[in-house]
Amino acid sequence: MSQPHRIVIVGGGTAGWMAANLFAHHFKHHPVTITLAESDNVPTVGVGEGSTPSLKQFFRDLGIEDAQWMPRCQATYKVAIQFHGWSPASGNSSYRHPFISQLDTFSERAFYVNSQTRRLGLDVTTSPDAFLFNSYLAEQKRSPLTPDNFPFRIEYGYHFDAGLLGEFLKEHALSQGVRHTVCDVQDVALHPNGDIRALIDSNDNEIHAELFVDCTGFNSLLLQKALKVPFSSFSDNLFNDRAVVLPTPADPSAPVETQATALSAGWTWAIPLQHRTGNGYVYSSQYISDDQAETELRTHLGMLEDDAPARFLSMKVGQADKHWYRNCLALGLSQGFIEPLEATALHLVQLSIRFFCEAYVKGNFTAQHQVSCNQKITGHFNNVRDYIVAHYKLNTRNDSAYWRDNRNNMHLSENLLQILDTWYRREDLARFLSEKSHATHFGATSWHCLLAGYGAFPGLAPEQPGTGDLFKEHQLASFFNGCLLNFSPQSQRLP
Ligand SMILES: Cc1cc2nc3c(=O)[nH]c(=O)nc-3n(C[C@H](O)[C@H](O)[C@H](O)COP(=O)(O)OP(=O)(O)OC[C@H]3O[C@@H](n4cnc5c(N)ncnc54)[C@H](O)[C@@H]3O)c2cc1C
Repeated sequence: MSQPHRIVIVGGGTAGWMAANLFAHHFKHHPVTITLAESDNVPTVGVGEGSTPSLKQFFRDLGIEDAQWMPRCQATYKVAIQFHGWSPASGNSSYRHPFISQLDTFSERAFYVNSQTRRLGLDVTTSPDAFLFNSYLAEQKRSPLTPDNFPFRIEYGYHFDAGLLGEFLKEHALSQGVRHTVCDVQDVALHPNGDIRALIDSNDNEIHAELFVDCTGFNSLLLQKALKVPFSSFSDNLFNDRAVVLPTPADPSAPVETQATALSAGWTWAIPLQHRTGNGYVYSSQYISDDQAETELRTHLGMLEDDAPARFLSMKVGQADKHWYRNCLALGLSQGFIEPLEATALHLVQLSIRFFCEAYVKGNFTAQHQVSCNQKITGHFNNVRDYIVAHYKLNTRNDSAYWRDNRNNMHLSENLLQILDTWYRREDLARFLSEKSHATHFGATSWHCLLAGYGAFPGLAPEQPGTGDLFKEHQLASFFNGCLLNFSPQSQRLP
């Protein structure tokens, strides 16, 4: 490439600034200029405050330490999500889906074997909380930071203030040479071949580039509106399309996990930050009104008498049929969104950027590898969707039509049907998933957490030999409790 290559990112939400930073990093040895254009009339979505462990890798790639960004973004560590009330018939009021740490190599096999033994009707320990170390950290509100002499890597993600993270990322991107302009994109001009030629702002200025990156949120101004790439909705198996948000004061006990609690027509999150707790109720407008949702959230939070204003959001759940089309790549909400359960949106943004950068450089800054790149991104979206859909399909609540309809919903992908079939046939789910060998964020242990956490088991056999419980035989509780002595409360270890 001899000519300077111009990349223009439209949108200054988390996706836009993440992209600006990662492009600056990945393309630093190439003659590329990166400009981010954003409107100051269209606000960012202003939510999205929980991450997966991939955010750790994001900061590592950029050479940014926790101590540099976490205090600026009121961030806390996250080691798990605790689910409450999704499957009352299991007899467990809650279970955890922790991030899987290196220490779990000692216990994962026992978890799989016990889950299979339980599927054969024998009464053995199957709670995910018992088998996975991060659950112990979450229960005791311990920081995941290890002392230098602790030989195992502990996985963690973060909770953070989305607005403050955006500001931090902007500052860093500008320090890396990214250019910034404030403008309202009003129109998109196309070349005769259908590629984007220029963006036109409200003063009729034209912004030219070789590559345009659509980070305009649910608007999807470039990819879906201008280039007319179709959008495939997931609404036939993910019913939620609205959220109401209401913060509460910070929890002084400094939890290290997100709470996800099922309510009558959806679920609420509680995300503990340093300066507040972020709360939101994600629900389906087909089953309850905004007023009912707000009242239910306030009741859940004990804020019925409180007149702090709530904020409502609409969600468009699904994905664009192509994430990269012609000379336009969409990232963030403009490429698609799989509702916030499991907090995977920024993880998918990061993955999309990685796949794109690899393909773009390999194709010498052309669209040569566009098809395979799109296949990878779409595959990841579909796999995440299946994992989320399973939370609704397997619920055992009977308190509303919403939960019954979710349980009776038969719009399931072939992949999800095969996973459930393997489980209910009492076959080895870990082996099945490894043989399918398609990359997904949610591996065998995550699936075991979900299925065992939901108590998706047959009734107990009449004869119980009383042996074969690997949790007890391997004395995993005392092993993990011993390990826990190396970890301090998060309240003492925040940078
Ligand atoms: C209820 C809810 C909860 C969520 N929870 C999580 C979570 O826990 N974890 C997670 O990872 N993700 C979560 N997400 C997703 C997360 O919020 C988004 O993925 C993330 O914030 C990125 O958003 P964005 O940058 O794509 O879009 P936005 O934040 O909407 O930004 C869009 C940008 O485009 C600009 N723009 C729009 N139109 C124009 C125009 N015409 N001209 C110029 N600029 C324009 C705007 O000014 C803005 O800067 C959640 C989303 C929702 C709805």
